[in-house]
Amino acid sequence: TGTLYIVPTPIGNLGDMTERALNVLRHCQAIAAEDTRHSGQLMQHLGIKQELFALHEHNERQKAGQVIERLQRGDNIALISDAGTPLISDPGYVLVQQCRAAGITVTALPGACAFVTALSGAGLPTDRFCFEGFLPAKPQQRRKALQALVNETRTLVFYESPHRIVDTLADLATEFGGERTMVMARELTKQFETYLSGTITEVQQQVLADSNQQRGEMVLMISGAEAAAEADVNPAAMKTLNLLRKELP
Ligand code: SAM
Repeated sequence: TGTLYIVPTPIGNLGDMTERALNVLRHCQAIAAEDTRHSGQLMQHLGIKQELFALHEHNERQKAGQVIERLQRGDNIALISDAGTPLISDPGYVLVQQCRAAGITVTALPGACAFVTALSGAGLPTDRFCFEGFLPAKPQQRRKALQALVNETRTLVFYESPHRIVDTLADLATEFGGERTMVMARELTKQFETYLSGTITEVQQQVLADSNQQRGEMVLMISGAEAAAEADVNPAAMKTLNLLRKELP
């Protein structure tokens, strides 16, 4: 049987394609891509002529069976997404799970990933962190999701889209308080790569003051709740304290 390769692609800078990733894409029998038109352009740029077929969140369950049949016939297949590492806020989980269940070899290649890049450049604690992916799009659910994270002591990492950045920063200020430290990493590896850092309120002000900061791709990182002092306090007291905090200026 063949191997399913999980192949990261660049998150902006095409130089971040690894040699190994290029070799796998050149030598496999087919590439499963989230968007064949988008990936077709990348392949053209990289000089790779290869069969591309679509595997995205809407057809993944249905396609997985066909991909597994091909793998069982001996084809090697590579999975890529529009950018970065497949399965990280991108399709592929169903396919990988089913391949593993069917005893097919899955080989994942390391490579570009926006949150790893953002964290390693942000200057917030990285010894422990919590990747939360995208927050819910609906305001009420988003605020609820944030409320559930208020006492998290690890650095929090979120993906966000430019359409929601202003609302999300406002929700962060409301739920976590404006004084918590954060970093917003934008357009990583690209021409307008920017890190904005400061308190949530400071970052919010910078983003509101400059509409360029509301464009492109962004990763939000929030420092964890202060752990040490609060760890010894009993949970009921902590709950009361957090309720009071929301009312305090
Ligand atoms: N699979 C990708 C990865 O490995 O990072 C993530 C895909 S997810 C659909 C897209 C989100 O990743 C964007 O909304 C943004 O939050 C983040 N992202 C992707 N590229 C980025 C970049 N160059 N700079 C900052 N954030 C980026």
